[in-house]
Amino acid sequence: MKKAIYKKIKENDIIVIARHIGADPDALGSSIGLREIIKETFPKKEVYTVGASASKFKFMGTIDKINESKFKDALLIVLDTPDLKRIDGINSINDFKDVIKIDHHPEIDEFGSIKWVDDTKSSVCQMIMELCYGTKLKINKYAAERLFMGLVSDTNRFLFYYTTADTMRIVSKMIDDTGIDFTSLYDDLYRRPLSEIRLQGYMYQNLIVTENGLGYIKLTDEIIKQFEVDPASSGNLVNNFNNIDEVLVWVTFSEDIKQGLIRVNVRSRGPVINKVLERHNGGGHKFASGARIKTFDEMEDIVNDLDQLCIEYKKYKK
Ligand code: AMP
Repeated sequence: MKKAIYKKIKENDIIVIARHIGADPDALGSSIGLREIIKETFPKKEVYTVGASASKFKFMGTIDKINESKFKDALLIVLDTPDLKRIDGINSINDFKDVIKIDHHPEIDEFGSIKWVDDTKSSVCQMIMELCYGTKLKINKYAAERLFMGLVSDTNRFLFYYTTADTMRIVSKMIDDTGIDFTSLYDDLYRRPLSEIRLQGYMYQNLIVTENGLGYIKLTDEIIKQFEVDPASSGNLVNNFNNIDEVLVWVTFSEDIKQGLIRVNVRSRGPVINKVLERHNGGGHKFASGARIKTFDEMEDIVNDLDQLCIEYKKYKK
């Protein structure tokens, strides 16, 4: 598989790398990292990353501008995106000469002449490291830093269950080989404004917890504005509710007036949640999923479905 991907990269002079909308560090780290790796290995190739940039993660690197007339002669590599509708920065994969899919989400749409999909991998950044070490692709320090940040972010600092001995081994090899100063990268990833910490405090105080172990909180535009935080950042705070005795599944509903939607961010430390979110215009991983809904009316349905999931999980666990 890795050799076939390398061969396709070698054969194509123009390569476009795409990832999912609402980019996070794994999506950005894998796409920008792979761009740098291909350029390092094949300096004459044109390699572009596409999609909206995320100001919150500008330390991950820049996204490119590309003339769409090049698409028809280009190889498209889609990273970290299970479904066609969530690919950012392109209209259709059919506009490209050829397509490769590399992803660690449970499969939704099957696409690409080569498809490397493995939902046991911690992150797509880990898969790009494995691609490098399994072929003649050359990694450099800048790419290694991007891949490290993406992997650390997606595993929540090597905390999540899909962190394996292989994850540790490949990261440590990459650190040895490139000499990245990895502890200095944590500052960019984890330093946050006081306003966000204060909102986190509000969320801890006001989290509603059902007797079945579902924690949820509704963050209206008014509350988000009161704390001077943006809706994407308030949704990200969902990652800070791990390890609460009484909470099995937790969800934040953040109103985004500008985009006319409500961001739903869900995490679990037991019940598998992605199928529930797929029923509500979303999806994701077994224990980390999301959705976008139109109004708070739909919140009740999601809360009920997730609460039911907690009930079933507890019954099954007994
Ligand atoms: P987040 O809470 O935004 O960090 O998302 C967690 C996971 O859910 C990621 O793997 C996303 O790809 C997935 N996800 C988030 N929002 C959506 C959505 N609207 N549709 C499908 N998957 C989503």
